[in-house]
Amino acid sequence: MNYQYSESFALEMDQKDPLAKFRDQFIFPQVNGEEAIYFCGNSLGLQPKTVRNGLDRELQNWAKMAVDGHFHGEDAWFYAKNKSKPALAEIMGAHEHEVVAMNNLSVNLHLLMVSFYRPTSEKYKIIVEAGAFPSDQYMLETQVKFHGLNPEEVIVELKPRAGEHTLRTEDIVAEIKKQGDALALVNMAGIQYYSGQLFDLEAITKAAHEVGAYAGFDLAHAAGNALLKLHDWDVDFATWCSYKYMNSGPGNISGIYVHERFAERPDIPRFAGWWGHDEGQRFKMEKGFLPMFGADGWQLANTNILALAAHQASLDIFMEAGIENLRNKSVSLTGYLEYLIREISGESGILEIITPENPSERGCQLSLLIHRGGKAVFDEWYQHGVVGDWRNPNVIRLAPTPLYNSYMDVFRFAKILEQSIKKFA
Ligand SMILES: *Cc1c(COP(=O)(O)O)cnc(C)c1O
Repeated sequence: MNYQYSESFALEMDQKDPLAKFRDQFIFPQVNGEEAIYFCGNSLGLQPKTVRNGLDRELQNWAKMAVDGHFHGEDAWFYAKNKSKPALAEIMGAHEHEVVAMNNLSVNLHLLMVSFYRPTSEKYKIIVEAGAFPSDQYMLETQVKFHGLNPEEVIVELKPRAGEHTLRTEDIVAEIKKQGDALALVNMAGIQYYSGQLFDLEAITKAAHEVGAYAGFDLAHAAGNALLKLHDWDVDFATWCSYKYMNSGPGNISGIYVHERFAERPDIPRFAGWWGHDEGQRFKMEKGFLPMFGADGWQLANTNILALAAHQASLDIFMEAGIENLRNKSVSLTGYLEYLIREISGESGILEIITPENPSERGCQLSLLIHRGGKAVFDEWYQHGVVGDWRNPNVIRLAPTPLYNSYMDVFRFAKILEQSIKKFA
């Protein structure tokens, strides 16, 4: 792609962009009275305008039908989880019976660990990337302690080589081989929240399986961002959140993926609740847990309908836009941001992009290591309307998302960057 640092180029790219019309379906926040340059979909996606209708519809169902809404009307709540399955399956690269929306991400991580981390005296180690998201670290630490083991002896953290910021697949695979039979589980991010690195989930899963370990991933930053093929990659399990790239609202519902080879394995330990119990038998209110087929068998509680309504409004937009189209634009848009940052910051030494250069090793986020100016650089950008985020100790994350960001957003940011480079030089 021959990018140019010019307004006319950015405008032309927007005109040619088949996804440009989706921008208008989202509500942009304001900073200092002007529409923000919103590059923070990695943390909280923008509100689709259709969310309000989706919520209103369920409020009306509730008002009109009250308890009858569980089994009556077009949206019968008893079957609500099924509505999101086609979109979730598409986004995850999975079969519909391998995915279900439920709970929140950290909760789901724990529930999946119950099933997929069952250490023995010989097979007990867990591989994770160093500097994993805190919730994932606390989850692993307390799961290991729950089994009476010592996290320091169990958890193997993968660190980049000296002088590097991201992990090499060959090093991940080598560590998996090294741990060998002792390895019980690889539990990594899909996309690392700090560096923006997209891991090779297929290669990692294959290596894990070769030593008889499970491979499960936290897709918080990959869901709705990277192209995923969880089923074909043979991934054992995964979970994600819906409020980052999936634009479903703060703290909204998470989901899980469990490979179909576990679909009919009632022997696999799990913490059960009535919503995972065989649908046909559920209201018999009898003893004896019979898990539903597939991922549904991991559900515990009856579905949060208002949460799902907001989630669905956003999933509908994903389906309309098409995930391959989104990914194509994403590669181009993030490439444009990368090009402009390199053009403008040049040899200034103020910042450095630590996210991999290869588009197949990243989603839409670029992580900028700030060498000079620290958080003042971030604050300066914010004053000019750029909403990204600052992550301690010294990274600014910028995520132009293909659904609602434009090439002009990236160009406008570049102008602000140019000013601040002069200021902090
Ligand atoms: C955002 C994020 C979380 C947040 O967990 P919640 O349970 O949704 O609060 C957890 N893990 C990772 C890797 C994340 O990026």
